[in-house]
Amino acid sequence: MTPRATLTLVLAAVLATSCSFAPSPKDGHSAPDPTAATRSGSASPSSVGQTFEEDVELARTLTERYWQQTFETAGRTYRPLTRFEAYSGQNGPDCGGQPSVPENAFYCPVGHFVAYDEQWMGSLYDKLGDGAVYVIIPHEIGHAVQAQLMSDFSLNIQRELQADCYAGGALKGLIDGGQLEAESGDDEELLANLAAAGDPTDIWWREDAHGTPVQRQQFFAKGFNDGVNAC
Ligand SMILES: [Zn+2]
Repeated sequence: MTPRATLTLVLAAVLATSCSFAPSPKDGHSAPDPTAATRSGSASPSSVGQTFEEDVELARTLTERYWQQTFETAGRTYRPLTRFEAYSGQNGPDCGGQPSVPENAFYCPVGHFVAYDEQWMGSLYDKLGDGAVYVIIPHEIGHAVQAQLMSDFSLNIQRELQADCYAGGALKGLIDGGQLEAESGDDEELLANLAAAGDPTDIWWREDAHGTPVQRQQFFAKGFNDGVNAC
């Protein structure tokens, strides 16, 4: 069997105007979802990513692998994250002297690492399904990509939306490449939740700099539809 991560991610019609994007619940690790009946179980026995921890690790490694290949194609070299760190509440790493905060995930350009509040992300995973993990982590890695492509990396609304676009493009690239599997479905409400939950991050830098949910969905959809080059 080929190692193939099954992302039970419902990518309903990814429309030009909004990205219908919602996760489906994982068996045994999720609240009941009334829309689940419309979905087929996609987790094959051999697939990885059956737990929160596995999905987190997969989202990281697959996304970084995607960027490594994309950089290579462009004749460049992707610089992998130095660390990918789970933390708990107040006990996160600081970034350039700024303390991390609970209920957050962030990319730190100073150390070129990503850190996340494990309990917080786990609760999103329980509530929204694995799609939450596969949006948040690729978004944060999108910032790591920006930091390598820009000489003046800083966070602002354009960078946040571009990171959403990168996340959509990377996920589509992984799906096209067969590393991730997506299912068709439709769940606008989860989409809205996910857009809100996709990046409540970086708030300690720029509280107002993430864009509206609609903007965020549009940029995610742009990347998903047109690839990272369109970002
Ligand atoms: Zn961000």
